[in-house]
Amino acid sequence: MRRLTAEQYTEGILRGDRVVLSRAITLVESTLPTDRTLTTELLEAVLPHTGRSFRVGITGVPGVGKSTFIEAFGNYVISLGKKLAVLTVDPSSERSGGSILGDKTRMETLVNQPTAYVRPSPSGTSLGGVTRSTRQAMLLCEAAGYEVIFVETVGVGQSETVVHGMTDFFLLLMLAGAGDELQGIKRGIMEMADAVVINKADGDNLVRAKQARAAYENALHLMPLSASGWQPPVQLCSALAGTGIAEVWTVLEEYRQATQPGGYFARKRQEQNRHWLHETIQQTLEETFYQNPAIRSRLAQTEEAVKTGRLSAWRAAEELLKTYSSSEVRSLSRPVGGQKPE
Ligand code: GDP
Repeated sequence: MRRLTAEQYTEGILRGDRVVLSRAITLVESTLPTDRTLTTELLEAVLPHTGRSFRVGITGVPGVGKSTFIEAFGNYVISLGKKLAVLTVDPSSERSGGSILGDKTRMETLVNQPTAYVRPSPSGTSLGGVTRSTRQAMLLCEAAGYEVIFVETVGVGQSETVVHGMTDFFLLLMLAGAGDELQGIKRGIMEMADAVVINKADGDNLVRAKQARAAYENALHLMPLSASGWQPPVQLCSALAGTGIAEVWTVLEEYRQATQPGGYFARKRQEQNRHWLHETIQQTLEETFYQNPAIRSRLAQTEEAVKTGRLSAWRAAEELLKTYSSSEVRSLSRPVGGQKPE
């Protein structure tokens, strides 16, 4: 698709034009070097208009009812008069080519709401790529006036950590059946949660859900309190019946009220920004390293030498890095246009 200029994207986004917003997100998902330059320009232009949303990460194993919950919770949020964007970090689309989250038509009622914007994960990108484009998409959505942003993840590999690192509040969806399941959940995920919501607390399941709540509350009490001083609550809900949904929003509001006045909320974002800086540097270095022509021409034979033990991995890395830095220095001293100086 034809690209707009940075000014055209910016103007459209600030106007809240969803078509332009979608096109801008497609731009930030692109890996073409020319698109990267345009992306940076666009992000700089919208930056003063970002940061004013509540960023909420939502995770839970497949089948826990994430789409049903996001649909119910999302519709509740927009019923409060707020504009909502739903983004996804789904690195499974990288491996299978098809996404766990995106296969079925999800969140049908939400998709059709004029004040909701739902954007699935780009397919065929690495977790690093999805992470970067989702963060950037989040900023674009904020500039377009979305006040609440859900970032959903299916919880494959490191995706939960990634989503936790880009959101203000991390919501963990769980199911009843505490005893066994409590053993099975990754402890680190529980530690990241700002709230645990037990879904499918309806019908025959309600009693078990209440038992599960007590078990999760105990487990959470044993965990170290976060620097915010916030004690993550355990809530019950039925995404299907729509019960307990408003209460989840109340928890989110309470979190904001508890962490904003003392500055914790803002400090967490500042720390996330600092982290994004370093991650971007790392990613860019890695990309430019492997794309460097001098490295590309040497990598296979170096790998072979390391595999057969003729060269240690450390020595090989040192030599490749030297090759890389000297070729980067040469390319920097070249005038624009790629010509070598006379
Ligand atoms: P996801 O894979 O986590 O996105 O889960 P889905 O939202 O697709 O839900 C998985 C299944 O659980 C579907 O059959 C839903 O209808 C069902 N489900 C979701 N929420 C509830 C709930 O609150 N109560 C009950 N009983 N079923 C639910």
